[in-house]
Amino acid sequence: MSAPAVSATRCRYFADGRWRDSAARETLPVHDPATGAEIAQVPLCLPAEVDAVVAAARAAFPAWRKVPAVVRARYLFKYRDLLERHKDELARLITREHGKAFEDARGSVQRGLEVVEFACGIPSQLLGETLEDIAPGIDSHTLRQPIGVCVGITPFNFPAMVPLWMLPLAIACGNTFIFKPSEKVPLTATRLVELLAETGLPAGVVGLVHGTAPQVEQLIDHPQVAAVSIVGSTAAASAVYARAAARGKRVQALGGAKNHMVVMPDADLDAVVESVMSSAFGSSGQRCMAGSVAVAVDPIGDEFVRRLRARAASMRIGPGDQAGVEMGPLINAAQRDRVRAYLDIGVTERARLVLDGRERDVPRDGFFVGASIFDHVEPTMRVAREEIFGPVLSVIRAGSLADAIAVVNRSAMGNGASIFTRDGGAARQFTSEVEAGMVGVNIGVPVPMAFFSFSGWKGSFFGDLHVHGKDGVRFYTEVKVVTSRFA
Ligand code: NAD
Repeated sequence: MSAPAVSATRCRYFADGRWRDSAARETLPVHDPATGAEIAQVPLCLPAEVDAVVAAARAAFPAWRKVPAVVRARYLFKYRDLLERHKDELARLITREHGKAFEDARGSVQRGLEVVEFACGIPSQLLGETLEDIAPGIDSHTLRQPIGVCVGITPFNFPAMVPLWMLPLAIACGNTFIFKPSEKVPLTATRLVELLAETGLPAGVVGLVHGTAPQVEQLIDHPQVAAVSIVGSTAAASAVYARAAARGKRVQALGGAKNHMVVMPDADLDAVVESVMSSAFGSSGQRCMAGSVAVAVDPIGDEFVRRLRARAASMRIGPGDQAGVEMGPLINAAQRDRVRAYLDIGVTERARLVLDGRERDVPRDGFFVGASIFDHVEPTMRVAREEIFGPVLSVIRAGSLADAIAVVNRSAMGNGASIFTRDGGAARQFTSEVEAGMVGVNIGVPVPMAFFSFSGWKGSFFGDLHVHGKDGVRFYTEVKVVTSRFA
């Protein structure tokens, strides 16, 4: 029986199939954002500990890659069942360390679980191609092979879903995988790996390292690490992309976002308001697919803002584990203060603050800010351009669909974009011309399901192969072309 993964309140790292205490003196606190209370400590793993995790992953690789794909898939079938059985427990853990409402947390576990289901079908995904007689008596076929030790670095905002974008496919393809979770939410990460270990997965196939940028840099630089995936802010994603690429590593780096939602005058306004509410303020705006700018096309702006403001002002805010709560706290005090500061910035820029979340009566000890709306925002303003990652919506007015598309396309980011309309022609023009990788038509959060790829563009993504779906399989494999003659 292995030691528990969290000792008292200090997280352990996972190497060679065992949970271990880090000897690191430096630790960071983990908070319950709804109360501000410290609930755990996460160690910043020492270089020798990071090395040990890599060594175990490297040692496990030759045997794991030889395990038939159908047998590897069986571990994932077991993992899928464990995740299903522990879904509520994982969701409670997410609510505790991240703060989001329980139902939202549960939904995010489900989306991660769907990637495990996709990975269960790995034998078909790994099929190659064959051509007989490419020349007289000569045939060719392709093999899709694993690449070695893969590293995954994840953000705080989806403590289970984002790790599950990477881990199941990486190991299903025959790689070994090292997980460096966000230092802000290590408890869900720990539980995900504990459940994976319960499947009987061979030691070393998955490892877990705690830390921040120095531990990530050590992993990237390590000669035995073949590939790196990161999901995080644009600053972290671009730094990891540059460092990994400079060392010849395969890398996919998903960055920040500033997603736009275009509201056409013919849209069903009741449905739009509900979609925009959930997109802009769900999870307190801490989603990379949150809609943080609404572009209202004349003449719908005044009515849209009036209805949205009324709905947002009455949102139920509170601890995510309370029934009926629509919006929980922000992740920590620094982020709460940053969001408040952006409200000052918008006012200084002369945007009209029609709903000020600082005025909401919120629980005193947690990291709460109410929903806020700026109207008559100009595309050049910081509140229109920069990722705030909080419950702040900027509304820009546009004279036509073409003007609205131009507003969307001047953004440096290109994760998601949505249009609300009943006009097929407008929807078609928007989907064709908009510069974003994930597009919604009457959908406020157009996140692709597991069998498609999560495909941000521009400053929201660095690399070429995106996460999960077919791209995910391509990222975690290398193609070999075999040409053979026997006669
Ligand atoms: P973050 O960039 O602070 O941290 C993300 C991860 O990178 C963490 O594990 C952190 O320890 C590590 N890290 C931070 N700085 C680093 C550096 N310089 N070098 C190497 N590693 C580093 O992000 P966060 O605050 O945890 O998460 C929120 C951000 O993630 C937002 O910008 C959000 O848009 C983005 N995000 C993007 C997607 C997407 O799919 N594009 C999905 C979720 C979150």
